[in-house]
Amino acid sequence: MNIAILGAGISGLSAARELVANGAKVTIFDKSRGVGGRMSTRYAGDWEFDHGAQFFTVQDPDFQVEIDNAIEADVVAPWAARALYLKTGELSADTGRDRYVATPRMNSLPKYWATGLDIELGRRINRVVQGENWTLEFEDETSVSGFDAVISTLPPAQARLVLPVNFKHMTSVVSAEMHVCFCLMIGVSEAVDTGWDTLRVKDLPIDWIAMNNAKPGRIANIGSIVVHSAPEWSDLHVAADRDWVQDVMLKSASALIGMPLDQAPHIALHRWLYSSSKASPDIACLEGDKIVAAGDWCLGGRVQRAWLSGRAAARALL
Ligand SMILES: Cc1cc2nc3c(=O)[nH]c(=O)nc-3n(C[C@H](O)[C@H](O)[C@H](O)COP(=O)(O)OP(=O)(O)OC[C@H]3O[C@@H](n4cnc5c(N)ncnc54)[C@H](O)[C@@H]3O)c2cc1C
Repeated sequence: MNIAILGAGISGLSAARELVANGAKVTIFDKSRGVGGRMSTRYAGDWEFDHGAQFFTVQDPDFQVEIDNAIEADVVAPWAARALYLKTGELSADTGRDRYVATPRMNSLPKYWATGLDIELGRRINRVVQGENWTLEFEDETSVSGFDAVISTLPPAQARLVLPVNFKHMTSVVSAEMHVCFCLMIGVSEAVDTGWDTLRVKDLPIDWIAMNNAKPGRIANIGSIVVHSAPEWSDLHVAADRDWVQDVMLKSASALIGMPLDQAPHIALHRWLYSSSKASPDIACLEGDKIVAAGDWCLGGRVQRAWLSGRAAARALL
């Protein structure tokens, strides 16, 4: 089988690895300049910010095997973060499952999983067309034909634009929704020690602060602070003036960290239009006739579910 995979995030890479392991010929296409999708890292001088996925947890035994292999290869490490949760004025320990991060940065794991795969970057797909076999049409008006099957791992709002209109599960794709998230990246000259590495917050415009430099494998003595806006607040202010968004988030973060950050030597804002799942079909993947829609959103979001969805899409075709 000659298979095209749309998207080189965790789900696309997971699908590709499963297919290649079973003898299929696979080409992955992604619009970005690098692999990893939302599992990504921004650089600014000496500062590095994991501005998408912060960490991940593992419940599935097969995913655990993959992660154990990645730990062995030195691209993942457990993160024993000092994690706090602030809710209605009360601080408590932010407990839960063991946290893992990719090392030395979040995009290291997708890069590792991408090794040896055939991946075309900088290729924005406009349309997937069915004829005798499948053709991909790109934004730059080029096309590639000859695929026996296609797996899309694009977020639903992008998938609905490229999948054929007669795709069997188009209604599920159209009704899947995702939250917006603004990510504020603040670089300061020294690591900031507040006594916590992560702070989860309820009922404020921001819902997360992480000391990125406190993750394993990072440059520890330079302060890289990542701040995420809360989902409902972000949805409401998706089109708001970026300076205003940045100002509100900076004020919240400064108050919670206990130091003014508005004069920090590096401040940047990124908007994720498709961040976390809001309404999900809650099924591993949506299987049509030699075309499958997958992605974290199928199962409700998060890294592990992206991996599971990609693998499910590959298995559906196999
Ligand atoms: C701010 C933020 C914080 C997060 N925090 C966590 C966390 O702490 N823990 C956790 O488990 N998860 C977290 N997540 C979610 C996690 O990042 C995702 O669940 C996971 O990375 C999704 O992988 P995916 O492959 O399904 O999708 P994506 O990573 O979105 O991959 C889809 C790919 O499709 C490409 N693409 C889109 N349209 C086109 C097109 N037309 N043509 C070609 N390519 C296209 C994109 O470039 C992208 O590379 C977070 C996400 C964000 C944004």
